[in-house]
Amino acid sequence: MPVILTAPHGGRDEVPGCPVRTPAGPRFVVTADFNTDVLALGIAGELERLTGRRPYLVLAKFHRRFIDANRPAEEAYSAPGCEGDFNAYHASTRRFVDEVRARHRHGMLFDVHGQSAYRDSILRGTRYGATVKALLARAGPPAVTGPDSVFGRFVAMGYRILPPNELPPTARAEERNYTGGYTVAVYGSRHADGIDAMQLEFGRDLREAGVVAKTARDTAAAIAAFHEAFLR
Ligand SMILES: [Zn+2]
Repeated sequence: MPVILTAPHGGRDEVPGCPVRTPAGPRFVVTADFNTDVLALGIAGELERLTGRRPYLVLAKFHRRFIDANRPAEEAYSAPGCEGDFNAYHASTRRFVDEVRARHRHGMLFDVHGQSAYRDSILRGTRYGATVKALLARAGPPAVTGPDSVFGRFVAMGYRILPPNELPPTARAEERNYTGGYTVAVYGSRHADGIDAMQLEFGRDLREAGVVAKTARDTAAAIAAFHEAFLR
């Protein structure tokens, strides 16, 4: 299906030949987004179960201590031994974006993250609409904040979200530090070779062991509804 899931911060593995990162760039973070690997795999599995079609999935297995795949290369790692894994992550993402563009009229990338600042909430990051520029142009604000949008479905299922859907997607209302990172900026539809892209930031409470499977099911249902309404 024309959906790409990326998850740069859920990895747990060391990288042979790659040292721990040394501070570089703004907001230097080396902690993982706990269980977002499990969450992204769960969303992919549930999407296939719901729609009979498989999404694309790019899942970092390396820990963020070694490589941060949601940063430009010069901030993402500290030594040449890390380069291969970083490049593999982005070569896969680029290949999938190109493939979606070649095979489908529309497509969407969801970059899966975790945050602990709003523990029970899901945050949207689109750089105030810039990474979903094409989607807004062809379908308008309801594709991002309406009842059949992903965040519209989240609200209908009882989730707390930020920013609120009452505000237009281009309002500069997305939470500071969660407006959308490197991945959605690079692959998003403000670029001629991009597709629409949105960062999803799941609160810590939604990723706990006993809850993460339900969060994955509900997110897949939200994406499937969005797919039905806007990607066909
Ligand atoms: Zn993250």
